[in-house]
Amino acid sequence: MAKSFSANINKKIEHLLNYPGCGNIELSSRKAMWLSTLYGLIHVFILTFSFLFFVPELTILIQYGFTCLFLLISALMITPFFKRFFKHYFTIHLLLLMLVTFVTIIRLGGIVTSVGLIVACFSFVLLSIPLQSVSITISLFVIYSIFLIAVGYAGTSLSVPSQITPLRNSIIWMINTLSMTALSLIFVVDFITQQNKFKKLEANKQKELYEAKTKLFTNITHEFRTPLTIIQGMTDLIEKQPEEWLDEGTWRIRNNSSILLRLINQMLDIARIETGSMHVHLKQSDIVSYLGYLTELFSSVAHEKNIRLVFLPEVSQVVMDFDPDKLVHIVSNLLSNALKFTPEGGSIDVKTSLNVKEDLFTIQITDTGKGIPPDHINHVFDRFYQVENSYGSVGGSGLGLALVKEIVELLSGNISVESQPAKGTTFYVNLPVTRNAEKIDNEKFRELFSEQVSAAIHSLKFQKSFPSTKNITPEDLPTLLIV
Ligand code: ATP
Ligand code: MG
Repeated sequence: MAKSFSANINKKIEHLLNYPGCGNIELSSRKAMWLSTLYGLIHVFILTFSFLFFVPELTILIQYGFTCLFLLISALMITPFFKRFFKHYFTIHLLLLMLVTFVTIIRLGGIVTSVGLIVACFSFVLLSIPLQSVSITISLFVIYSIFLIAVGYAGTSLSVPSQITPLRNSIIWMINTLSMTALSLIFVVDFITQQNKFKKLEANKQKELYEAKTKLFTNITHEFRTPLTIIQGMTDLIEKQPEEWLDEGTWRIRNNSSILLRLINQMLDIARIETGSMHVHLKQSDIVSYLGYLTELFSSVAHEKNIRLVFLPEVSQVVMDFDPDKLVHIVSNLLSNALKFTPEGGSIDVKTSLNVKEDLFTIQITDTGKGIPPDHINHVFDRFYQVENSYGSVGGSGLGLALVKEIVELLSGNISVESQPAKGTTFYVNLPVTRNAEKIDNEKFRELFSEQVSAAIHSLKFQKSFPSTKNITPEDLPTLLIV
């Protein structure tokens, strides 16, 4: 019960601080900074209000408490909105806290009567560790040391206010020291442990990547060989019997070149995601009308195949951040699958819904196609996985869904599938709803991204079989002897 409650809170905080394109390590750094600020806020709040009610004569500490509360509350509220300048913002925040603390220590009469604020100040230096910048931590430490030397030098020339009695000084010193030690232990140690965990995961990922690359190489050679063999065979047939093979041969060559090009583009996209060079470019606009526009562009292909393609948004407008280019990739891959695997007379529904409570936007693509058998469904997002190799009739290489999954995850979303053989398939894409990016109106999108959509539809058209009465028999193709 308590475990699921804390997991729930953790998920909520991650949701608050996460943003599309934010990696695990950065998220854990943002979380450590935000949670330590929250902890600091609770500590300062309890002490300040205790002083206010029970020892109101401690005016210096009450004033210091309220200043810290102001700084901590603003940091908590502002952090979720800071993405790129998160480090800069927290550095300034820690610097301000240190500055206010230095002034208070001087007002309290120096290090000995600082009620433990000198320890609190050092914990600000420690708390900069999750920012993962050696130069920031060292700079803060140097500032702290200079202050220590300066106050030590000023020594007895500073006057101690009468409210700071030795007893009060010792009690508050103890409270501050214990609390700040706990703060450093909990957040900094936890952050370092998490980092080590991520590093281990990263090492395992590298190992898996190496194995995957070897597997990929084997797959690629296979995927390239088939269309190349067809292109070569067709060229020979056109050369020998041009009257009979010119039309169909040219079409097949173009078809297979298009398959190769699509394969290369998909592989390049996957490589870009893996090397981290595929960036997220968010724009804020109405995602529903953009999806409506994308679906509409596929209607001609659906119409040719006598498939009913309908767009059914639950709400007519959802203004949120999304990457239009990546959305073209996601929707065109899912629609291209639905169109490929749905027979004539079938239907495809593109539905959208908004979960306000969880801040999630869902795109649901349902078809009445051939469906995916249960023993294959867990593998459809694997690279090069195809339920059955229907190459030549519907085309494809089995990279489409793998790429969609990687893109959706890059956008901090998730994708799932439900299917019933012979009945149909539904893909669900959940995207987080944020509203921080630059606002752009819908018309501009259409101008900017119409080229990508046309390219996706063009490659889709080439995946359909040639409407020829003449079938190619194995005898028509050249023989390949594999030893
Ligand atoms: P590519 O997308 O690279 O051109 P592909 O469409 O075969 O090739 P994926 O999009 O990754 O590859 O899909 C993998 C497999 O999942 C498909 O080959 C197909 O067997 C199955 N599949 C995907 N979508 C559907 C669907 N809507 N209905 C039935 N089967 C599907
Ligand atoms: Mg596909």
